[in-house]
Amino acid sequence: MKRVVTAALSSYDPGALQQFFQEGFESIGLSLNHCKVLLKPNLVMGKPPRKAVNTHPDVVRAVAAVLLDRSCDVYIGDSPGYESTERALKGSGIMDVVKDMGLKVVPFNRLITKRQQSGVSPYRFFTFGEDPCAYDAVVNLPKLKTHGMMGLTLGVKNTFGFIHSLEKARWHLRAGQDRMLFASILIDIHRLVSPAVTILDGIIAMDREGPSSGRARDMGLIALSRDAFALDHYIEQIIGIASLPITVKAMEHGLIGEYDVHGQKVPPVAGFEMPKSVDTDWALPRFVKKILRSVFVGKPRLNLEKCRGCGICLKVCPAGSLVFLDQRPVFDHKRCIRCYCCQEMCPEGAITV
Ligand code: SF4
Ligand code: SF4
Repeated sequence: MKRVVTAALSSYDPGALQQFFQEGFESIGLSLNHCKVLLKPNLVMGKPPRKAVNTHPDVVRAVAAVLLDRSCDVYIGDSPGYESTERALKGSGIMDVVKDMGLKVVPFNRLITKRQQSGVSPYRFFTFGEDPCAYDAVVNLPKLKTHGMMGLTLGVKNTFGFIHSLEKARWHLRAGQDRMLFASILIDIHRLVSPAVTILDGIIAMDREGPSSGRARDMGLIALSRDAFALDHYIEQIIGIASLPITVKAMEHGLIGEYDVHGQKVPPVAGFEMPKSVDTDWALPRFVKKILRSVFVGKPRLNLEKCRGCGICLKVCPAGSLVFLDQRPVFDHKRCIRCYCCQEMCPEGAITV
């Protein structure tokens, strides 16, 4: 049976983390010895650990220590939104871990076409920035955060980072406002990556307007599993959120079966605040949904005081629904597909929903 292993940790204590990983790997029957391993953290942008935007450097450090102890060759990489991987690693504090432990940085800037024989989405070809098959194992290291479009970003969503940065906007554009379609794309990508283990950092998590400008809050939760679908489902249960698109799609396709939960009991999370986007997966005709979405789904808005006119939001908008006037972005809400990439990538937290 699938297994989710959990622990309640009040801090990023290195000894406690390493012990959890060692015992957790044993509990799920994962033996990574003398392997070439790729660590895939959630690396959105170069924000410091206290902001809870990226996977905490101490989680990366503890996992790397366990793997190096087992004579593994350890690589680390991701494709952040607008910065280079190196720059984002530096700003996030993970570069110190890279240097201290001699990890090798992979910039995820290759162009590799991956084909899926059969999947959940209607698409078969995906362009990756790095080939997961070039490693004996991928260790998926998501951060527990809210996400404007998908509700939460957890294990399955984290592997979207394998998509080449030039292609990410295209997938958003294809899905448009259809969260279920985007969920099915994320599921296919995740299955192509097929991580050996997913380790979720929820010791300091993010709620409200995540995934980059929400509230950092102590949740004291860490969990791992070979199966990210089971892990994500379990986390949604303890937060008390039901029917998020990835889980709904995964259930529809029989990807979430029975699983057991092992380890320290994590109490239900109280007061976790979801972002202000609304459920748009109504079972209604397409044209009715389109009208309702234009009225009810939260629109991105600019906080003029916070904006410093860097133009990153324009660059990342897949729908071309932003223009610059007087050095500040202006939204064309008719063209906007409500993907919230602008909100996610704004380094100043100047875009709200
Ligand atoms: S809203 Fe954010 S990303 Fe856009 S120009 Fe202003 S500061 Fe830059
Ligand atoms: S304006 Fe923002 S939310 Fe709208 S399509 Fe562009 S990036 Fe997405």
